[in-house]
Amino acid sequence: MEYPTLKPYKVCENVYAVGGVRRSHPRDSAVYVVIGPDGAVLIDCGSPYGFERREKNLRGLGVEITDIELMIGTHCHYDHVGGGAELKRRNPAVKIALHELDATACESGDSDLTCAGWMFRDEFPAFEADILLGDGEILRAAGLEFEIIHAPGHTAGSVAVSTVVRGKKTVFTGDCYVPSCERVGYDYEKLMETTEKLLGLGADIVCPGHLGHLVTFPVTQAMKGKISPEIARAVCRFEPPAKIVSGIASFFYEFNVIEQALIHRAR
Ligand SMILES: [Zn+2]
Ligand SMILES: [Zn+2]
Repeated sequence: MEYPTLKPYKVCENVYAVGGVRRSHPRDSAVYVVIGPDGAVLIDCGSPYGFERREKNLRGLGVEITDIELMIGTHCHYDHVGGGAELKRRNPAVKIALHELDATACESGDSDLTCAGWMFRDEFPAFEADILLGDGEILRAAGLEFEIIHAPGHTAGSVAVSTVVRGKKTVFTGDCYVPSCERVGYDYEKLMETTEKLLGLGADIVCPGHLGHLVTFPVTQAMKGKISPEIARAVCRFEPPAKIVSGIASFFYEFNVIEQALIHRAR
């Protein structure tokens, strides 16, 4: 199936989305590459599929898969890091970093916690993380620095990743402010704390792990008086106007629409 049609999305100089629903494979989260003076770093690597397309997209930017020194996984979900084992096969030197609370699910290939089974009807190709992340940790790779912000809620070991690119504070959020479900260890209180934490980061550029419809949750909760409208408004600043649709077809449709507007300034 010739599905992907979009070229890499340029976030800013040296930061591109090279993977996503229409950039690499329908099962992929957004996959970002940050190109440094000394190699490159991936934020998430996508599902076990779509590698050819991601490699092609990288190559178009002058980056070979073997130039990837580090992959920071935002959390253990299949669409974000299900391709970790394959990434290692294609580049044995790559280091994979995950928060310690999510790394075990990837090591055991936990079908529930990674979403692989019940959501994607697939197996999670297990892999071991090389680096276990903790809050506030600074990672150095490819001549760049990345700050890890533990941002639990969506999963216990979700992280946001902050780096400065040409003077701009660029934050990769993965699914940090996205509601999930109990099956993957969803914690509503923590998600709200995380949302506030993210809003306090003062990001210049925000690179989300997916997108628009996901913001409707805080909005509807605010409408029900369960969280403050202030939070909902603030979360909305991450996203284009949310389009509320239902059903799997519209789910993918929406991802496509949203991918066009992948990047939004937090302020
Ligand atoms: Zn997720
Ligand atoms: Zn996701």
